Amino acid sequence: MTKALLIADLVNDFVTGKLANPRANRIIPNVARLVAAAHTAHIPVIWCNDAHLPTDFELKIWGPHSMKGTKGAEIIPQLKPAKGDFILEKRTYSAFFDTGLDSILRAHGVEDVVITGLLTNICGIHTAADAFFRGYNPIVPEDGVEALSEKAHRDGLEYVKTMYQTEITSADKLLKRWK
Ligand code: ZN
Repeated sequence: MTKALLIADLVNDFVTGKLANPRANRIIPNVARLVAAAHTAHIPVIWCNDAHLPTDFELKIWGPHSMKGTKGAEIIPQLKPAKGDFILEKRTYSAFFDTGLDSILRAHGVEDVVITGLLTNICGIHTAADAFFRGYNPIVPEDGVEALSEKAHRDGLEYVKTMYQTEITSADKLLKRWK
């Protein structure tokens, strides 16, 4: 199966900034290993980062965060995109919404979309939904995504598994498969 690795919102504001979330630290080494393995295996790596404009409706809920062009919207220093990676700016939860992601996946003949990053029950759910609606197979390593609480994380995983036939796996299992 042709696959792609998505990394959602592992930007400063979601880890240490405006929406700081210490739970994110658990997944950073796993995402780093997946990114490295994807680069080695020539699996497309697609970073989907919030880059909000002041008029974005989502700010009514969360307040300003990951604003376009700010330090808060930059990928965290522990992770490094490589040349050839795709870096997409998004303005709401789904990595597919107005980002051009779908055409990139189609150009690569992608079938399996591996979703990592933040937050399991928000961007994770909406991105898995949009992948499913478009005929892709969403795959989520449970140790590659995090939420603001354990319950929100577990609920998010359960929802995407039930509603979108998402395969819930682990970083180790994916790494073995990609060898
Ligand atoms: Zn946002």
